[in-house]
Amino acid sequence: MPADTLLRDIFGFDGFRPGQEEIVDAVVSGQNVLAIMPTGGGKSLCYQLPALVRDGITVVISPLIALMRDQVRALREAGVEAGALTSGNTDEETEEVWQAIEDGRLKLLYIAPERLASGAALGMLRRIGVSLIAVDEAHCVSQWGHDFRPDYLRIGELRRTLNVPIAAFTATADAETREEIINRLFDGQAPATFLHGFDRPNIHLAFAAKDSPRKQILDFAGARLGQSGIVYCGTRAKTESLAKGLRDAGHNALHYHGGMDPEDRRFVETRFQREDGLIVVATVAFGMGIDKPDIRWVAHADLPKSIESYYQEIGRAGRDGAPAETLTLFGPEDIRLRRSQIDEGLAPPERRAADHARLNALLGLAEALECRRTKLLGYFGETEVKCGKCDLCDQPAEVFDGTEAVRKALSAILRTGEWFGTGHLIDILLGNDTERMRQKGHDALPTFGVGREYDKRQWQAVFRQMMGHDLIRPDPERHGALRMTDDALPILKGEASINLRRDTIRKASKGPRVKA
Ligand code: ADP
Ligand code: ZN
Repeated sequence: MPADTLLRDIFGFDGFRPGQEEIVDAVVSGQNVLAIMPTGGGKSLCYQLPALVRDGITVVISPLIALMRDQVRALREAGVEAGALTSGNTDEETEEVWQAIEDGRLKLLYIAPERLASGAALGMLRRIGVSLIAVDEAHCVSQWGHDFRPDYLRIGELRRTLNVPIAAFTATADAETREEIINRLFDGQAPATFLHGFDRPNIHLAFAAKDSPRKQILDFAGARLGQSGIVYCGTRAKTESLAKGLRDAGHNALHYHGGMDPEDRRFVETRFQREDGLIVVATVAFGMGIDKPDIRWVAHADLPKSIESYYQEIGRAGRDGAPAETLTLFGPEDIRLRRSQIDEGLAPPERRAADHARLNALLGLAEALECRRTKLLGYFGETEVKCGKCDLCDQPAEVFDGTEAVRKALSAILRTGEWFGTGHLIDILLGNDTERMRQKGHDALPTFGVGREYDKRQWQAVFRQMMGHDLIRPDPERHGALRMTDDALPILKGEASINLRRDTIRKASKGPRVKA
């Protein structure tokens, strides 16, 4: 049967989603394929359909047993011969799968990666006429990623043994992971690569530096009274207090976090799913399995963990395609917290470096000077982005040459031995005569009072942007004292310049401050 007939008759879809058809064609024609699609983009069709067109059996390797079982059940209901070999099987189920293989009926065989560890499984797969290997969640092969599965490393060997094409799928798009997938699954031979569908054109993107964060969220929600929305918070305590704040402001709001009883959590999930105009204030524990098409907005009261988390969390808005709004708040405390979570984690150094890089990508987006959508999709590898739906397209950021300000700040950091935090450093720049200043003798530094062209808030914005550009980092071993990174060297040496946003850094209107 031709692909479009199968699409309609077996899968019940009227047409392909953007990107699906090219991937299906490439897989059907036996090319090695790496497809990068966002979660919910419709990856499974891209190997299930070719499995029906091609002769022989398609082996599907997936890390999630529950997901495999779901897919097998759905395929069977649609009349497709599919089976799974996983540790969750009953003996009868396993027997049935074997029978279908023996009769030459089976089209899709789902197996858990652990199975690949046994030589018996390899031998079995060699005998049964496998014509294609489909690898779901292919980023599990990446040792520096968060979902590393050692058994995924065996897939390359499986491909060599069977000598059949591989179609690999993932939603993780950073360049390092992609390269690792190509090296480990395809022996470094570039497969046909497809990257598609990351844009969600109906979602408006906006970031704002934390000013009075609680009020910023209340204002944002207040302008959307009666619409369903999610507020993500960094801590459980905050979900409760912010939900209360929203209720006091006349909203219908509930909190949700991982510390609640399963029953209470289900109660919130069910109400959110069924009711219109409910706001859920939650930690990231909320979202998996939420399938509400008409979420009109998503706000982050705290900075998400990485650019991937950000994308996934805002992506819960506007699944119905109608306009949806987002707002993400961030401040120096968020950056400090996220950095220390990475530094204090147990991950090996290489992975920590990768996590810092992922955080940097998000901070780059937060401090962006031009179109956020272009920047976000650029991170996922998509080019030729049409936007017009982000705060910076609405109103371009006013930028100024911040090189001088950054050099002054770096100088204050270096001249005090990289032992101080923002508060004291700003006091130095402003020439504030504090107890600590005299005690440390910092009023004698050449940097003392050289930054009076800005006020305290403006310097805070400079420091925040410097953290955002990864020019300085808090050192967890020095109580969060700010230290310069290598990236700042060219600016310090006068070899590079940097633009900063002016929105939060208007020149002090009353002219330079004078010491009291
Ligand atoms: P993921 O990429 O996360 O694996 P799935 O393959 O589970 O996504 O697909 C996500 C949803 O999109 C499913 O509900 C699926 O039925 C639906 N879907 C996939 N392809 C199409 C299509 N061509 N037309 C309509 N719906 C589709
Ligand atoms: Zn834009």
